[in-house]
Amino acid sequence: MKGKFLVVVLAVMLVLTCAGCKCKHETWIEATCSTPKTCADCEYTEGEPLTHEWKEATCTEAKTCKLCNETEGAPAGHEWAAATCTTPKTCTVCEVTEGEVLVHELSEATCTEAATCVDCGYEEGDALGHTPGDWVETLNMVTACTETTQSCTVCGEDLEFKEESLTTLIDGTVFAFTAEEFTQRLGYMFEEYGFDYTTEAVVGDDGTYFTGVVGDGVYVAVIGFVTESDTLVIGSTRNEKNISSMAGIYYTTDGTEIAYIFMGMIGACDPALSMEDVATICTNSALEYENGGGWAYNGLSYYFEDVDDGVATSIYIDAAYE
Ligand SMILES: [Zn+2]
Ligand SMILES: [Zn+2]
Ligand SMILES: [Zn+2]
Ligand SMILES: [Zn+2]
Ligand SMILES: [Zn+2]
Repeated sequence: MKGKFLVVVLAVMLVLTCAGCKCKHETWIEATCSTPKTCADCEYTEGEPLTHEWKEATCTEAKTCKLCNETEGAPAGHEWAAATCTTPKTCTVCEVTEGEVLVHELSEATCTEAATCVDCGYEEGDALGHTPGDWVETLNMVTACTETTQSCTVCGEDLEFKEESLTTLIDGTVFAFTAEEFTQRLGYMFEEYGFDYTTEAVVGDDGTYFTGVVGDGVYVAVIGFVTESDTLVIGSTRNEKNISSMAGIYYTTDGTEIAYIFMGMIGACDPALSMEDVATICTNSALEYENGGGWAYNGLSYYFEDVDDGVATSIYIDAAYE
C-alpha cells in the first residue's frame, strides 16, 4: 500500500517538475535579427535568427537594417556642387541645398544690351538706348548725292541715313568733282545706263591725268581735263577741284560707241539729267556740230569737235568762259 502511494507521489512530482518538458509552445516570440523564434513560456527556440535586411547608406544616414534598425559604418556624406548665381550649393545625390545663390556678375549695360550676367546670361534692367549725335553731311561725288548720317555718340552706330541727289555739279566756274572723282563717277554712270564700259586712271609720261574708258579690254577713249587757267590737269593735281572743261578723245570711229561714251560724260557732269535728257543733249550737240557750234543746257555747253584723227567731245562750264 505504502509503496503504491510513493509511485503516485513520484508520478505527480514528475508531472510538476517536468512542466517545461510538457510545454505546448503556444505563444511564440517572432524571430529577430539577433534571436531565433522563441517560446514565450519556456524559452525554447526554433530555427535561426533572421539576417539583417540592409538599407544602403545615404548622405545623412549610415547603412541601416530595415528590421532592427541596427546601423553599420557612417553616413555617405553629401556630394556638393558649388553654388552658382542661379542655384545654391547643392548635393548632387540628395539635392539638399545649403546657403544662398551667388550674386550675378553683371556687365555694364550698353546702348543695345541690358546689364548681363557673364556667368548665366541673366539680364537686369534695359539697354541704355542710343544717344543720337549731330547730323553729319558728306558729299558722295560718285553718286552725286549728299549723304547725311546721324550716329550714336556712345557706340558710333549709324542710326539714320538720308541721301539727297545733287541738282548740279557746277561750283562757280569749276566742277565740284576732282579728276579722280570724275573717273569713278563716269564708271558709275556707265553702269547706271547699262553701257558696257569701265573707267580707270591713266597718267601720261608728262604727268597729264586722263580718265581711260575701257571697252572689251582695250581703251576706246580717254578724257582729259583743263583747268580755268587753261592748263591740263596733271597727276599731282588730279585731286583738286579745278576742272572747268574736259574733252574725250576716241580710239574708235564707231559713232554709236562715241555717242554712248559722250552720254556717260554728259550724265556724269549734270546729275539733274535723266537718261533721255542725256540722249537729247548728245543728239542736239551732234546736230549743232554740223553748223559748227555746240549745245548749251543748264550751265554747260556740249560740243563735238574735229581733231586730227577724227572727233572729240567736250563739255565746258559756261560761267568759266563768259
Ligand atoms: Zn514553450
Ligand atoms: Zn537587423
Ligand atoms: Zn546629399
Ligand atoms: Zn548670373
Ligand atoms: Zn549707341
